[in-house]
Parts: sequence; structure tokens; C-alpha cells
Amino acid sequence: MDHVTGAARSEDVRAHNLAAVMAHLDLVGRASRAELSATTGLVSGAVSSLVQELRDARLVRPAGASEPGAGPRPPRRGRPTEIVEIDGSDLGFLVVQFLMGQVRVVGTDLAGRSLHDRTLALSTPVGDPAALADVLVAPTVAGLAGLRAAGARPVALAVVAPAPVDPTSGHVAFSVDFGWRDVDLAALLRDRLPDPPGRVMVLNDAQTATHAETVAQRRAGGPADDLVYLKADTGIGGGVVVAGRLLRGTTAFVFQPGHVVTVPGGPACTCGKRGCLVTVAGPDVLLRAAGLDGLAADAGFPAALDELFARHDAGDATTVGAVRENAAWLRLALVNVCVLLQPRVVVLGGYLARVRDLLLDEGDDGLGPAGLPGAPQVIAARHGADSALQGALSLCRGTVLASPGQVRAT
Ligand SMILES: [Zn+2]
Repeated sequence: MDHVTGAARSEDVRAHNLAAVMAHLDLVGRASRAELSATTGLVSGAVSSLVQELRDARLVRPAGASEPGAGPRPPRRGRPTEIVEIDGSDLGFLVVQFLMGQVRVVGTDLAGRSLHDRTLALSTPVGDPAALADVLVAPTVAGLAGLRAAGARPVALAVVAPAPVDPTSGHVAFSVDFGWRDVDLAALLRDRLPDPPGRVMVLNDAQTATHAETVAQRRAGGPADDLVYLKADTGIGGGVVVAGRLLRGTTAFVFQPGHVVTVPGGPACTCGKRGCLVTVAGPDVLLRAAGLDGLAADAGFPAALDELFARHDAGDATTVGAVRENAAWLRLALVNVCVLLQPRVVVLGGYLARVRDLLLDEGDDGLGPAGLPGAPQVIAARHGADSALQGALSLCRGTVLASPGQVRAT
């Protein structure tokens, strides 16, 4: 082994051990050094060194002392042992989510404390992506200033895009709504910021929503290792967790349930195929069938969908018929997704959560393996309309928890 390789491996081991300490604290909230030693299998001197490094970086802080004898491996008789917990109150994350006509900016610290939350009705120009980056600058700068005013140094900025994102390049691969193809939106925004955080990334909304709902499901004690998230709002999308891992694929176009061919030779789709699910069951089709396409054009999709479900709940016959036909198509997609992936839980996002009962048949063996028990649990998204945003914040936080050695206090 040469010295360079040996040093690199030593660095890797230390980085791994720092991440293990942060992961345990994230799981249990607070722990003594003795507990950390027992959990990580490291001798107490090594744990003390790791904790000191994390304290210097203000990633952990003292949280009192345990009584002598507490914990799985108590220290010498009569001496209390120091308890530590995750700090990170000086580290901030900002998420900028853009939709047609709206931008939401939310910031938290490492502990999840909300430091900034703004929703703005803004013109989001289509065509030249630089024009959208220009629009995002002011709310992003305000959000970063909000973090700093709260004493948190911005370490990561995530832009949540309603479009497929290439997992390798981080570019927005394609957007019909915005007229884009292969756009490096992170670079466009970073170049416009006077003092950008060290990490600027663009994330797909369905993927981040799937991550958030998986974390929420795990925390609720439910099965989360084989999960499908399906949503309908301005389009139809979703994400998949297989054997505990989010399916990212090697292209931006993994798991696009809206573009499953549903009617052979059907209406032309913006993706180039014919008869995709969105062409017969997309939100625009639903709103048109309910006579609300004019309202959608004037007031936006969210307002039109609110009106749609108000009329539906009031029993308006045209609306009820439109929603039932839409739900029948969506149920077909749900059944086929379950046949292909056999999830243990399906999480419904967007307005799918509002039509859950229409998507399910009595008992619903049709979602399980043919002729066998084992249909998935079908639940509404725990984060509601905030799944994508919460998922992006969680992913930002995860980058620090996984690589604490790269973060240094300023
Ligand atoms: Zn299509």
C-alpha cells in the first residue's frame, strides 16, 4: 500500500464513521458517547475524536449528561457521560419549487426548523430557460437572505422542477410545458446568484415526493421498502421504491406512468406517442370534460381543480360523470403498476388522494397478485401538496448527514 492510497483510505474510513455517528443521532435523537461507541463498534477514544470534530463543525452539540450507569456501556462508576444531539442550527437549506405561474421558496436548518417560507404568484416564462432563471433570482436571493438572517449558512439549494431530470448530468431533460430540452438550470441560476451555496441542484418533483412519502411511511412504522407513489395534479407522474431504494434509473425518463400507452392509436401525445394515459385521463382532459377548461386557463389548474371537487362533492351530475370516467382510467394504470411492481404500499398524491375510493373496488383483490392474497395498502400522501418540497429538503439534509466531514463551521 503506498502512502497516498493509505491516506485516502484512512480519510474514507473517518468519513464513514462520521456519517455513522450522524445517522445514529438522526435515528434516536440524542445519545451518549458510550452509546455511540456501542452502536458504531468503535473504541471510546475514537468516538470522542469523531464527536469533537462534529462539535467543531457545529453539527452536534451537548444535550446534558446521563446518569452514571445509564446506556449500554456505562463509563467509570460515578461519572456522568455527556449526551450529544444534532445541532446544525447554523446550516441552512433552501428549496425553490416552480410551477406554472407560481414559485414557492422554503428554507430550514439541519434540525428541520423552518426559517423561510414564501409562496409567490409570478410569471414563469416559457421558452428561453434563462428567462425563468431570471425570474427565480429575486425569490432565491430573498430566501438565502432569510436563512442568513436566522444565523444559518446556506449549504445547499435545490430547485424542484415539474419535469424529468437526468440523474447523471442533473439537467432538465425535457419539458413540454416550458419548451425545454437538456437545460442546465442549476448553472443558469447559480451564475445569477451573488453568493450561491456550495451545492446547487435541480430535482424532479415526483422523485422528491416519493422520497418524502417513503420517509414518512417509514417513520409511521409502515412498510416502505416496496412503495409506489402516484400523483395527478398538473400532469400524471410518480416514483418507485424497490427493496428500499428509490428507482433513479440511468435516464430522466424512468417511471413515467402518464405516458403508458392506454388507447392504441389514440390521441397524439406531446411525447410523440399516441394514446398515452395523459391523453385520455390527464387533468386538462378531466377539466375539459367538466367544462372547467376556461377557468383553468384563467385562474390556473389548482383553482380549477378546487372548483371541480367542490362541484363533485355537491353532486353536480356532469362533474361526477367526468370524475368517474377519469378515475376509471386511473384505476387501470394503478392495476397495471401493481401487476408490474407488486408494491406493498401505494401512496396517492395530488387529486388522486381525493378520488381514492373511486380508484378502489370493494376489498380490491385486483391490486394483488392474481388469485393470491397480498394486495397493497393504498393511502393518501402524508405530506399532501407539500410532498415534493419536503422531499427536496430531506434530500438536502441527507447530503450533510452522509458527508458531515465536508461541512465546516465558518
Ligand atoms: Zn405520452
